[in-house]
Amino acid sequence: MDERRTDAGCATGAPGTGADGHVQGGRPSLIGEDAEGLARRLAELGVAARERGMRARQLFRWIYARGARSFEIMSDLPKDLRDALAERFELSRPQVLACAQSRDGTRKWLLGYEDGARVELVYIPEPGRGTLCLSSQVGCPLGCRFCRTATMGLWRNLRAGEILGQILFAKDALDDWPADRPGRQVTNLVLMGMGEPLLNYEAVRQALRVALARDGLGLSRRRITVSTAGVVPRIAELGRDLGVRLAVSLHAADDATRDRLVPINRKWNIAALLEACRNYPAGRRITFEYVLLHGVNDRPEDARRLVRLLADLPAKVNLIPFNPWPGSEYRPSSAERVRRFRRLLEAGGLEAPVREPRGRDILAACGQLASAPPRTRAA
Ligand code: SAH
Repeated sequence: MDERRTDAGCATGAPGTGADGHVQGGRPSLIGEDAEGLARRLAELGVAARERGMRARQLFRWIYARGARSFEIMSDLPKDLRDALAERFELSRPQVLACAQSRDGTRKWLLGYEDGARVELVYIPEPGRGTLCLSSQVGCPLGCRFCRTATMGLWRNLRAGEILGQILFAKDALDDWPADRPGRQVTNLVLMGMGEPLLNYEAVRQALRVALARDGLGLSRRRITVSTAGVVPRIAELGRDLGVRLAVSLHAADDATRDRLVPINRKWNIAALLEACRNYPAGRRITFEYVLLHGVNDRPEDARRLVRLLADLPAKVNLIPFNPWPGSEYRPSSAERVRRFRRLLEAGGLEAPVREPRGRDILAACGQLASAPPRTRAA
C-alpha cells in the first residue's frame, strides 16, 4: 500500500484535518441513522414530537445529500438545536491511514475505525462514471482460495454507519458534494470490496437504503451492485428489500471445483445458487463473476458447462483475469486461454467481457484487498 504514495493526490480533502472545525470527541456518530433513527435521536434531545419529523428530514438531507461535516452549517436548524446536536453527536468519517493512486487513475484508501479495524476502499474512474467499491466486513470468513482478503479471516462486521462513512469519505476526498450535483464523480456503488455483504445483511440494507433515498445520496437501484459468493437464503431478501443489481461470484461450473475454490458451495451448491438467481426480481440481468485460474477452471469443458448452466438465466459473465498477490497459489490463465474461454461462452450465446484489471499496481484490483498481516489459515 505504501508503494506509489502520492500525498498530493491523496491527501486533498482528506477529513480529520479540522479545516471545518470538526472535532473528533468520541461522541456517537449520526452517520448510519435513517430519518426514523434521527427522529429518535432528536427525541433524546427533547425536540417536541410535532417538530421531530421535519427536523429529522432536514438533518438527513444535510448529512447525506449535502455532506455536512458539522452541525454549525445547518442554517435552517435553530441555533440552540445545532448546539445541542454538536454537544451530543458527531458526523465523523473514518480516518485515512494511507492512500495510493494507480497509473490508471484508480485510487485506494486504507481507512481506520475507532477500534483499530481497517478496511480498504477503492474508487475507479471511467469515462462518464465513477464506481466506488465498498467493503462490508473487516476481513472475510468465506475462505475463497484465490482471494487475498480471505487470508485475514473475519475480524468483524461493519456497522451501517461505517459502510456509509466510506461513501461520505470518498465524496469528501473527491470534492463531490452535493450528492445531486451535475457531473458527479461517484455514480455507482459496488459491494465488492472486503467481506461478504450478505453475511452482514442488516447493516448493508440500512446503508443502501440511505444511498438509494432521493433526499439522501440519491443513487438509482441500477447503479448499485451487491456481489455475493452465494449466501443463498439472503438473495431473495435482497431482491425484495432493495432490488439492486446482483452479481454472483461463480468461478466454477461444477460442484467439485467450486467446493474447493469457494467453500460456501459446500453449504449451498451451484444448483441451489442458480435457483435463487432464477427467482431474483425479473428484468434484472445477473452478472456472474468468473476468475480465470490457469489449469483449474479455464478448460474448454468448463466453458461449455458454464453455457449449459446459465442457459435459462438472464445472465452475463464477467471474466476476471486472476490478480496475483503475495503468497497466492494460483496463476492467471494465459491471454490465449482467456480468449478461447471467452469465444466458447460467446458461441453459446453468453455475453462475456473480460474485466480490465484496475489498480493492479497498487494491489487495488479484485481480490487483492487486505488490511492486516494474514492469520495462518486453518487447514
Ligand atoms: N464476498 C463477495 C464480495 C467480494 S467481490 C463475493 O465474493 O462476491 C470480489 C470479487 O473478486 C469476487 O468475485 C471475488 O471472487 C473476486 N476475486 C477474489 N480474489 C481474486 C483475485 N485474486 N483475482 C481476481 N478476482 C478475485
